[in-house]
Amino acid sequence: MEDTMENKWIPMTSITSGKGQEVRRDIYCLPIQIVNVCFIGDVDRPNEWVLVDTGMPGCADKIIEAANDRFGENNQPKAIILTHGHFDHVGAVVDLVERWKVPVYAHELELPFLTGKLNYPEPDGTVEGGLVAKMSPMFPNESVNLGNHVAPLPSEGTIPEMPGWRWVHTPGHTPGHVSFFRDEDRSLIVGDAFVTVRQDSLYEVLTQKQEINGPPRYFTTDWQEAWDSVKKLEALKPVAAVTGHGLPMMGEELARDLRKLSAEFDRLAIPDYGRYVDGEQSKQ
Ligand SMILES: [Zn+2]
Ligand SMILES: [Zn+2]
Repeated sequence: MEDTMENKWIPMTSITSGKGQEVRRDIYCLPIQIVNVCFIGDVDRPNEWVLVDTGMPGCADKIIEAANDRFGENNQPKAIILTHGHFDHVGAVVDLVERWKVPVYAHELELPFLTGKLNYPEPDGTVEGGLVAKMSPMFPNESVNLGNHVAPLPSEGTIPEMPGWRWVHTPGHTPGHVSFFRDEDRSLIVGDAFVTVRQDSLYEVLTQKQEINGPPRYFTTDWQEAWDSVKKLEALKPVAAVTGHGLPMMGEELARDLRKLSAEFDRLAIPDYGRYVDGEQSKQ
């Protein structure tokens, strides 16, 4: 394995960082600086949980500490499941795999970005948007290399170690982006297919003002696919959604805002201009 996220710490931390929230009895959302990770599993069964995404570079100790608080000392997850491979979702993955020796799963199309074969397109600092978009060229776009520690999600839609859940392919933000849905209670873990904060605005990222939005724009390379993915998620009629960025959203507010985003994605989410907006470079 090769940890390309080493020394890539980004000096940005929101006011909710470290303040976890139980969205369901067995879904715990933990904000790390400016991104969320999820612990899925019952606290009564401390050896049967799963970690979804691994936060910012350098945050492994924070995740381990929070896991110990929730599940007791020295418990480890059965697996790590990734929504996609951007630096703010795989920041601690190499450290955690070294420590826990657990398998990692991601969509087949995301594997080149997790095995050192392909880097993401560079973040677009010219895209229409706020200060975080302007700062985005400092964000790493290099692939991590998990070697044979990462495996593809099963093609039939199930998720290893997450019974009752299924993965939904939601490309656009990245080619192999996935979201996770539990039909029983309509819980949704979105990843970055849509988010509940204006991720390109520094002020709103730091204060975490809640507002539904399309995927983070400086990293999104195929806007038509991203729109189709939002439509797909809206059709699932989720009643609780944990997004990769921003606070969890529930109930009527989620239904109303997601319906609106799905219907008016061109106006609300697609930037007026940017390197990946016209589609020319969107198939890299
Ligand atoms: Zn992302
Ligand atoms: Zn993200």
